Amino acid sequence: MVERLYLPAIFKGMGITFSHMFKKKPTVNYPEETRPFSAVFRGLHILNRDEEGRERCTACGLCAVACPAEAITMEAAERQTGEEHLYREEKYAARYEVNMVRCIFCGLCEEACPKDAVYLSQTFAPANYGREGFIYKKEDLLIPNPVTDPEGFAKAKGTIPQAK
Ligand code: SF4
Ligand code: SF4
Repeated sequence: MVERLYLPAIFKGMGITFSHMFKKKPTVNYPEETRPFSAVFRGLHILNRDEEGRERCTACGLCAVACPAEAITMEAAERQTGEEHLYREEKYAARYEVNMVRCIFCGLCEEACPKDAVYLSQTFAPANYGREGFIYKKEDLLIPNPVTDPEGFAKAKGTIPQAK
């Protein structure tokens, strides 16, 4: 009789429901909340500056040569007198582009760079409707200047946590 009223099954189901109410939620309220990335996560490229805010890249091309996806393009230029506060070395990248559609985020460019000028951050390329939007130019990749924007620099470096 009790079984015909489905009571055992109902109580069993309710028991499962209640037991889940007190467990830690596996979901997060993205994008307000984010989970920390793995320490080995490789995301969007950052072009680095030194502590004085000068661009580190010397346009040597080693990152482009190391890239198996041929995703990096650059043009070198000579530093002019009076530009010492902008560029660390005598040569710099007047143009530096990474094609994120081609990139496989292997990190070989970062490993190849002798100047600590490029690294893969813990952010990913946002969605876009066109291919052109995935070609990141130097202006998109350069880290904020630590002299004029120390907080932006620290955030990009990962030394202060991203806003949740
Ligand atoms: S992460 Fe790999 S594929 Fe992407 S630009 Fe660097 S070397 Fe090329
Ligand atoms: S990012 Fe590094 S390896 Fe690539 S061109 Fe600049 S200095 Fe050379």
